[in-house]
Amino acid sequence: MIDNALHVHNGGCLCGSVRYIAQGQPLVVAHCHCKDCQRGTGAGHSTVAMFSIDRFQLMGRVAEFKMTSENGNEVTRVFCPTCGSPIYGTNSGMKGHVSIHLGTIDESATFEPQVVIFARNLKPWDDMDKGLLTFNAQPNWAPGDDV
Ligand SMILES: [Zn+2]
Ligand SMILES: [Zn+2]
Repeated sequence: MIDNALHVHNGGCLCGSVRYIAQGQPLVVAHCHCKDCQRGTGAGHSTVAMFSIDRFQLMGRVAEFKMTSENGNEVTRVFCPTCGSPIYGTNSGMKGHVSIHLGTIDESATFEPQVVIFARNLKPWDDMDKGLLTFNAQPNWAPGDDV
């Protein structure tokens, strides 16, 4: 159930057939320069906001692609089967959470990235925010830890 007393973020894909609501504040907002994000977005990095899955409500049909990450976790990338927009991802290492691609949120201007991960895979043609806490790979961070 969505509690309207909390801040509600609406979002969706390019064609509009997938919509979602995310409620409250994200646990963390991160730029990820890993090679999987580069493939999955076609850009130099992805920018994602992590929410608890019980604060996320999906509407519309999505497609999933599952793969195993470098450290052995199952990663599921969820996208719109019509227009291909990446919507969110889940990681078996962070059960109960979804990482929403920030560009799909209707009003994303107020979100502030806090960390950069997989900095070792930064491409020369991409920019990296050097003012943020930066990790070369996936940090041992878990939802609930301080950023
Ligand atoms: Zn779509
Ligand atoms: Zn990544």
